[in-house]
Amino acid sequence: MRDFHVHSNYSDGGFLRSMARAAESAGLEGVGFTDHCNVASRERAESMRSVYGFNLDLTYERRRQGIERLREDFDLEIYDAVEMDYDPRDEAAIDAFLSEAGFDYAIGSVHAVGGNNVQVASHFADMPDTERDAVVDDYFEKLVALVESELFDIAAHIDLLERTPPLRGQATADHYRRVARAFTDSRTVPEINAGRALTDAGIVHPADQFLTILGEHDVAVTVGTDSHHPTEIPDRADFLAEFVSETGLEPVVPGGLER
Ligand SMILES: [Zn+2]
Ligand SMILES: [Zn+2]
Repeated sequence: MRDFHVHSNYSDGGFLRSMARAAESAGLEGVGFTDHCNVASRERAESMRSVYGFNLDLTYERRRQGIERLREDFDLEIYDAVEMDYDPRDEAAIDAFLSEAGFDYAIGSVHAVGGNNVQVASHFADMPDTERDAVVDDYFEKLVALVESELFDIAAHIDLLERTPPLRGQATADHYRRVARAFTDSRTVPEINAGRALTDAGIVHPADQFLTILGEHDVAVTVGTDSHHPTEIPDRADFLAEFVSETGLEPVVPGGLER
């Protein structure tokens, strides 16, 4: 069992060393550090980076030195990876950054639509239905563009909208089929993401219907706990191991690790 989606203090997670220790004690064979990274030059993105300190574009070499040390100290594979914010306008900047940085693999994520983080319910709570439908359409359009861009090894939490009550349950089988078709022609694979699996909402990304449609299109999947705190890794990793065995899935390794 390897976990390909973990955050550290190089974005919004716990200390690199504590996360690695937790992964080792959980009995994992490998863990991939995928800190948040955004390379958009728009003013809003710049200010978000300075306010939240998601600066892996500036600190990845320092983190890499840290990862090298951890590889000496811990008995597990440790991958030097990234979770990039994706927006179609940033494709050239993302491509240039990923080529320069040379990570072991890259995750791409659609976190925002129309400048709004889709995980913040208050952005969408008072929207008229037509506007909310447009947000859902935009989200899936961006996700298809992410998959078609072939910039990434993994697409993260592909139905992230399900975390957000006003957007939950709004996606249709048609949205899911469009995404599934894009995956069949791309090197990018979706992940089974357990970031909200053990909460009251019990959300696994992608949810049942989406996962079934991906299966019908023979889309491979990988796995990630999306942990931000050391205590999250063991339970989520156990959950994922059980989930893949119950569903008969055979998770693949991110393409970058096979090259
Ligand atoms: Zn994410
Ligand atoms: Zn994440």
